[in-house]
Amino acid sequence: MAAQNVTGLQEATRMAAHVPHDEDVRGVRDPDFLALGLGGTSMLAMLWAVAMGRRAVGIEMRGDPFLGVHWNVRADLYHQLGLIDRLMIERYGEDRIPRRGEGNKLFRLAETFYSPETTAGDIVADEVIDNFDAERHISGTIHHVEFIDDRWRDGVPNRTVTLLTPPVPDERPDEMLIRTDMTEVLDGPSTFQGGASTILVLLRRYLEKMEALDLDSDFEPRVRLFTRHRVVNTPEGFDKHEDGRIGFRVEALQELDYKGKFVRIRQPGSKLIEIGVPELFMIAQGFHSTDAERLGFKQEDVAVDHHDGRGPVVAQADYLAGLIEAYVGGRLRRRISTEFDEEGQEFWVRQIAVGHEEDPEIGWCLVQVPDFKTFDPIREGLVPEGTDPQSPEFFAAYDTLVYDFYAQQVGDILEMSKEEVKKIQTVYGPKLFTLIERVGANALLAPNGVVAGDSFGNGHFLTSGGAMTGMIGHSWRVYEYYLAREAGVPHEEAIRKLADRIRSDTHAWLHVSAKEYSEAVPINFGAERISQIEAQGGISSSARSAAIDATRRQRHSLAPLNPSDWRRLFLRNGKVYSVPLPELHAMHPALRSQQPRKSVARITVAFVAPDLKPASLRLIQGALAQPGVTMGLIAPGSIDELPEGIRDRLGTFVSVPDVQHAEQIVQAVGQLKETLGQPGRLLGAAPELQVPLAEARQKLGVEGLSAEGARNFRDASILRQQLADAGIPVPRFARIESVQDGLAFGTEVGYYPLVVKPNEGAWAGNTYRVDSEEELSSLLNRLRPTEERPLICEEFIEGRECTLEVISVGGVPAWFSATRFGAEFLVALRNPRTALTMTLPREQDDPADPLVRRMGFAALKALGMDTGISSMRWFRRVDGTAVVTDVIASPPVEPIVSLMTLAHGTDMYRVWGNTVVNGLFAPIPRLYAAGAAMFRTQGEGTIVSAVHGLAEILHELGDLVVEVQEPQIGQPWSDPLTSGRFVLVRHEETAVVDKALRRIADSVWVELSDHA
Ligand SMILES: Cc1cc2nc3c(=O)[nH]c(=O)nc-3n(C[C@H](O)[C@H](O)[C@H](O)COP(=O)(O)OP(=O)(O)OC[C@H]3O[C@@H](n4cnc5c(N)ncnc54)[C@H](O)[C@@H]3O)c2cc1C
Repeated sequence: MAAQNVTGLQEATRMAAHVPHDEDVRGVRDPDFLALGLGGTSMLAMLWAVAMGRRAVGIEMRGDPFLGVHWNVRADLYHQLGLIDRLMIERYGEDRIPRRGEGNKLFRLAETFYSPETTAGDIVADEVIDNFDAERHISGTIHHVEFIDDRWRDGVPNRTVTLLTPPVPDERPDEMLIRTDMTEVLDGPSTFQGGASTILVLLRRYLEKMEALDLDSDFEPRVRLFTRHRVVNTPEGFDKHEDGRIGFRVEALQELDYKGKFVRIRQPGSKLIEIGVPELFMIAQGFHSTDAERLGFKQEDVAVDHHDGRGPVVAQADYLAGLIEAYVGGRLRRRISTEFDEEGQEFWVRQIAVGHEEDPEIGWCLVQVPDFKTFDPIREGLVPEGTDPQSPEFFAAYDTLVYDFYAQQVGDILEMSKEEVKKIQTVYGPKLFTLIERVGANALLAPNGVVAGDSFGNGHFLTSGGAMTGMIGHSWRVYEYYLAREAGVPHEEAIRKLADRIRSDTHAWLHVSAKEYSEAVPINFGAERISQIEAQGGISSSARSAAIDATRRQRHSLAPLNPSDWRRLFLRNGKVYSVPLPELHAMHPALRSQQPRKSVARITVAFVAPDLKPASLRLIQGALAQPGVTMGLIAPGSIDELPEGIRDRLGTFVSVPDVQHAEQIVQAVGQLKETLGQPGRLLGAAPELQVPLAEARQKLGVEGLSAEGARNFRDASILRQQLADAGIPVPRFARIESVQDGLAFGTEVGYYPLVVKPNEGAWAGNTYRVDSEEELSSLLNRLRPTEERPLICEEFIEGRECTLEVISVGGVPAWFSATRFGAEFLVALRNPRTALTMTLPREQDDPADPLVRRMGFAALKALGMDTGISSMRWFRRVDGTAVVTDVIASPPVEPIVSLMTLAHGTDMYRVWGNTVVNGLFAPIPRLYAAGAAMFRTQGEGTIVSAVHGLAEILHELGDLVVEVQEPQIGQPWSDPLTSGRFVLVRHEETAVVDKALRRIADSVWVELSDHA
């Protein structure tokens, strides 16, 4: 460190002019600080060493900074750069500080990185540093921090978007704001974004300029850099002293791009450079350091427990990284979503988009590859079995699969379609890489050296923790080391502390990273907390784990990983997407990926109704209420029967005596076309209309549920068979085309009761329970089933009867609710003294727990449900198992729609209308439990002659009752459901609703007689 005299300076300068850089060894021998590998960790550490008056030497083998990722940077880095600037100027005076370009502007790291006087944008780091581009600084600031949670919840797609207020950068660096607790740093938000290579160039140029300044002067160089060099990779490279300290010998390299790989050999004719023994050396050579390994350092895999039954497994995930030229801007957007494998097993995957303020060419998008994905072109059927994996066609097919998956995921995070993403220029990737968390036990390598940065350990990069831990954490510890030394602390003590702090910084990163692995809780962090498991042995031997590992291995053998790939240019030609990103959508992509069904502002709807009764009118209104709808109504009867509110808004009315035939619907639509043109939708809500409607749609070329799909729902025996084939539990059943068929089924089942009903029209009142062979025989003889008019016979399910209503968009279940019956429907039918009640509980899992919902969703998939509402009837048996008895592809009976409306505080008829007309659905939270009580009856007649107990119970229940459909004296009475008379109650608590229903069931009854 001693300054040379003037003669020495002149001599040195003269020599410097002639001596090649490598042969000029001034300032090299026995440095105070030696950095091996010149990433951010090392270069910042060198700057601290120099700022503290030490002499630093740096060795790098890959030349100029190249790291092609974009970093999210915590503000601490800015403040640290400010402190370095101050220390440098105080120690050396402005004369010995590097300059920025010809204007001789003082090189201050902090202001070059960020300043309110300059702006961010599309920069070239060297142009900014040399002050050629005097308007700009290196980093960008973050204006949008967005988290999208697109994981499916309760079996349906769900979107939660969280927008955070980004931190505002401080106008000046402030050393008082530097935090030294890495957990605190990493738990906090990022303030800046910057290209890793641009930030590294900033540090590198400062060091280079400082080296040049000193080599051109009489001062002993504060910095020496050898950037195409490495420690000799034979034992000759290390000079191990008796006291354990290590000295180094370095060689110059020639890099060859040999068969797609970078290979390095010693520069022919070059001499070894003797570094000697540094007081302190630090190895920070990235994920895998050969030098640290040669000095005996070992990293262990970190294990996490995903709580998926696999036990602790290696914290590992695969990502595809790419740089697309989309204007992500000053934005950090993260997303977590659900992917399903072929068996419906759920996997959570993450994506991140990082941009740069005012730079339309930066859209770093990283997407996680779900564990089950192989990208195997043979498995995907893109190339024939036996195709050579080394062949161009195999690679092309592999590349297509990878790019396709990447474009889809990028589309989901950027709110674009896959096709749009593919039109955008991709200048890097998508490149597959694996992230495995590893950590060492002890950062102290030798009495004079430590290992740091990623070489010591690494957590999950989605925390933006890598560069931060190395630069803000580990390098700062080097500064602390020198502060301690200045304060008189012995080297041994100071270096021990340095090593311990490197370790605790990395542990802080691992701790913060744990959240990135599903519900993963890190196990055994720290001395006891880091699980030392073998790479293979750490993985549980459960079947799923083995399958996942096999898939991953296959993926990797298809796409060998190579860190040098970061230095290669991949280019997919396309446009620069320089307009701001589309707004974040309120709906989950799974519900949008199906083309929105309505793409124009106005739409003509042909609506077919079986009658003009109030229940039908409510559904008509649901569709008619949609903005832009012009409706042609096809129904029996006359337009005059319609209430004015509907009549006035109708485009046209076509009266058809019987709407149950496709031909008649087609003809009616023909008439309607004359005034309204071709309809965009042909709709109807009645279950019995679904098949003729679908057939008519097919004939008329109108989109919607296919005729085959509609028949799946309508024909009870096909429906049961489809469900059984899909593995969904259904009652034992038989299609009955003759009396003999029915009796044979009774004999085969061998026990009673059995249920007999028409094969078409599951919800009709003409469903019978038979308790004996005689009853079965007499019923069959009365109903006379034939091939044309078959019946269905099935076992009677003992248990609680329930429903599950599902809204689907393009075949994807978007939302559900479920009800349970207080008494079995058939029991209530047979015994009028039993009142039928229904509850729609407030709790998601009551009565349809996740298993039942999965059954329901699988049933809809098997049956080919498209867009709309469906209703499944199922039973919870006494033993707790569930069995499905029916599914319709249309709204449930009226009381259930009323309950849905009440429980969700929204008009479910309109919601249904929005789904079937516009193909849109926005999830609705459940605010209440709701219940309906039908009335029990007494007496033999069919006419209501009196209603008992109603006034008293309404008084007793007060505000709990929200609607009463009171039976009218003289009104004809059929069965409890179709009579359409009931009391509706609502409350926040399900138990309160259940109790109120019991009270109504017990105390209200309708007296029937043959006359009023
Ligand atoms: C896709 C991706 C995105 C990321 N995003 C972020 C982010 O947003 N924020 C963040 O903080 N971190 C991020 N990281 C992590 C971050 O880039 C690394 O953690 C960080 O670069 C580690 O710094 P380092 O100094 O320890 O090592 P590196 O940056 O890897 O530097 C090591 C250097 O050593 C050199 N070297 C290696 N071996 C030798 C040898 N034998 N001799 C000489 N030189 C050698 C290498 O060439 C290299 O220049 C991301 C990483 C990836 C892969």
